[in-house]
Amino acid sequence: MSATQLFLLIASPFIGSFISASANGWPNWGKTLRSRSSCSHCHKRLQISDLIPIASFLFLAGKCRFCSSPIVINHLMAELCALLIAIISVWVLSDTLVLASVFLGWILLFGALVDFRTRLLPDGMNLILVITGLLVSFWQSGGQGLLSAALAAIIGFGVFFLISKIYLRLRGREGLGLGDAKLLAAGGAWLGVMAISWIILLACIIALFSMLITSIYSRKKLEAETMISFGPALAMAIYLLWVLKSANIGLL
Ligand SMILES: [Zn+2]
Repeated sequence: MSATQLFLLIASPFIGSFISASANGWPNWGKTLRSRSSCSHCHKRLQISDLIPIASFLFLAGKCRFCSSPIVINHLMAELCALLIAIISVWVLSDTLVLASVFLGWILLFGALVDFRTRLLPDGMNLILVITGLLVSFWQSGGQGLLSAALAAIIGFGVFFLISKIYLRLRGREGLGLGDAKLLAAGGAWLGVMAISWIILLACIIALFSMLITSIYSRKKLEAETMISFGPALAMAIYLLWVLKSANIGLL
């Protein structure tokens, strides 16, 4: 294992903690640090040792040391997801692709968490992903790659844009947000035009699966009006397909 890979694995839970706090604070960055540095129940300031990702949660058995209220599990989940992204990237991909892969995974994790909380995907995040996707495609296959990645981004945006307009006209309410269209544009830039239909298919499967689990868990019936945030499913689909493509596994 190279030094870079080891560093990424060790740093990933800390980065996950930061991603979680940033997503909790967005778009008010001032809240970012506050959301992680004090207990959400008794608002007492946490000690440095309470902020060590994953380990502090286990050490405190999931409870605040002052008021014994359960610690919000969101931070732990984000830390574990960031670690999982690093493990998958290091395990499956070659050294040159690992940095691009963890970058993509962690930014998508941030977007998924924000969308989960607010049903919005930050424009800045989508823009960064489109630009970096174009750069990675250029770096992988030169000018030709850049051109087809740009085309894929435009097609990705266009597909969801059209669907959302048709849906709005037929049903009289918004079904897909423009944020989802911009994220699919980013998916196109990173993965190419052939991947767009696979991204949509996999995202739909993930979204349906998570709706089913949620409805069983909360004992609520699924209806056509049930609102789901599609962003997290889309983010997960893009990352999984990126790993498959980069490791030369499968159809892409
Ligand atoms: Zn407390």
